[in-house]
Formats: sequence, structure tokens, C-alpha cells
Amino acid sequence: VIEAVGVRKRFGDHDVLRGIDLAVAPHEVVVLIGASGSGKSTLLRTMNLIERVDDGQIFLSGTDITDPRADADAIRARIGVVFQHFNLFPHLTVLDNVTLAARWVHRTAKAEAAARGRELLTALGLGDKAGAYPDRLSGGQQQRVAIVRAILTEPELLLLDEITSALDPQLVGEVLDLVRELKNRGTTILMATHEMSFAREVADRVVFLKDGVLVEQGPPEQLFEAPQHPATIEFLSRVH
Ligand code: ATP
Ligand code: MG
Repeated sequence: VIEAVGVRKRFGDHDVLRGIDLAVAPHEVVVLIGASGSGKSTLLRTMNLIERVDDGQIFLSGTDITDPRADADAIRARIGVVFQHFNLFPHLTVLDNVTLAARWVHRTAKAEAAARGRELLTALGLGDKAGAYPDRLSGGQQQRVAIVRAILTEPELLLLDEITSALDPQLVGEVLDLVRELKNRGTTILMATHEMSFAREVADRVVFLKDGVLVEQGPPEQLFEAPQHPATIEFLSRVH
């Protein structure tokens, strides 16, 4: 679905991504881990064209999205994104928040978008919130709404960046349950998280970044139980 090849990004004299090669296959859930500042968010941001790469290429189902002639809006419309802070529009109901992109980016008719929005909210346990405003929802519910919004248009890829880190611990579980449900539905997901227990549970593959380098990757059992690289061992010994 997405493939980064030799991706480099530098801010000033700081090499934040130093030649990342990473591919995510259809229906795969790949989790990025690594210390704060290792480049996880920057990598996700290059994939959504929030940041332009300095070198290397990124292919979305074959489209070179790093080509300067690529249509950024069209590419972003194919990717769902959820970040740490929910970013729901406070003056819109849950249903209107969820259907906004479908209606304005994808030009879906209002009634059709609303029907799909209600259906998906219901399927994901938020059916009774459709008419509510975001400030009436818990943080966990708001974040789940943000995820529903991101998947309503059936993006090819879902990018999730620390979606639980702004939540109270007791609200983390419901968001993680939703990600698990998306995984069961076959959604292709690339996510960054500090929650190792979650990475272990939901990931098909875990990728460890250190200082902008992909140091080690593998199935969670392998990466967490039998890490090979000294930097991975050191990192896991600190976060476990
Ligand atoms: P965290 O776990 O804290 O979210 P991260 O792995 O997501 O960390 P990034 O946010 O990708 O790390 O940041 C990597 C490095 O790039 C950091 O040193 C950060 O300060 C720097 N950086 C990120 N964005 C910018 C920017 N727009 N301008 C300058 N430096 C930046
Ligand atoms: Mg980050």
C-alpha cells in the first residue's frame, strides 16, 4: 500500500530521517516505536505530505507521492489520518464531523454520507452520539469519532500518530479496542505509539526507529522477546 524508499528529512542541520526504507502491505498493521525525537511523527507526516522529503521516494499503491507534480489533495484524500489531539470541529455534531471530508473532499451526497456515517458510528459503538457536540463526549469517545471520520471514505491507508497519548489511562482501552476492530476489518494501518503493550497486541510488524534510522523490525513476538540489535535491547529495557 505504501512504500518509503531511502526517505531523508532534515530540519536545519538536524538529520531527522536518515534513509528510511519501509513498506506496508495491504491489510497489514505496522507499529512504529522509538524514543521521543526518533522521527516517528516526521515519517508519518512525509507520507501525508505535511512534510516534503529531502531525498527518497514514497509510493502509495504505485503513485509516487513525492513527485513534485503529484496532486497533494488527491493523495491526502486516499489516506486517513488521526493525530494525538482530536481536532474535531466543536461547532459541528459528531455526524457532521464524521461526514465532512466525505461531503467536501469526496463530493459524496449529503444523505449518502449521513447514512454511511450513522452506519459506521453504530457499528463502532458510537451510534447514540451522532447528534452530540464534541464537548459532550469523553476524550476516548472524541478520539474514536476522529477515527471514524478518518475511515469513512475508506482510505487505502490509515496513519495513526500517538492516538492514545493525550487520554486518561482509563480511556485508552476503548480507543485500542476500536483499532483492534479496524484491524479485524482489514484496514491497512501504520501507527506510532509509546504503548508497547498495544504494539505487541495489535501489530503484525513492529518497527524500531532510532535517530531517524530503521534499526530493527519484525513480528512483535520476535522484536519484544528476542530483539537482535543492542539499541533495541537498550530501548526496550527502558520502556518495559
Ligand atoms: P515523539 O515520540 O516525542 O512523538 P517522534 O519520534 O515522533 O517523537 P518527531 O516528532 O518525528 O519524533 O521529531 C523528530 C525530530 O525532528 C525531533 O528532534 C524534532 O524536534 C524535530 N522536528 C520535527 N518537526 C520539526 C520541524 N517542523 N522543525 C524543526 N524540527 C523538527
Ligand atoms: Mg511523534
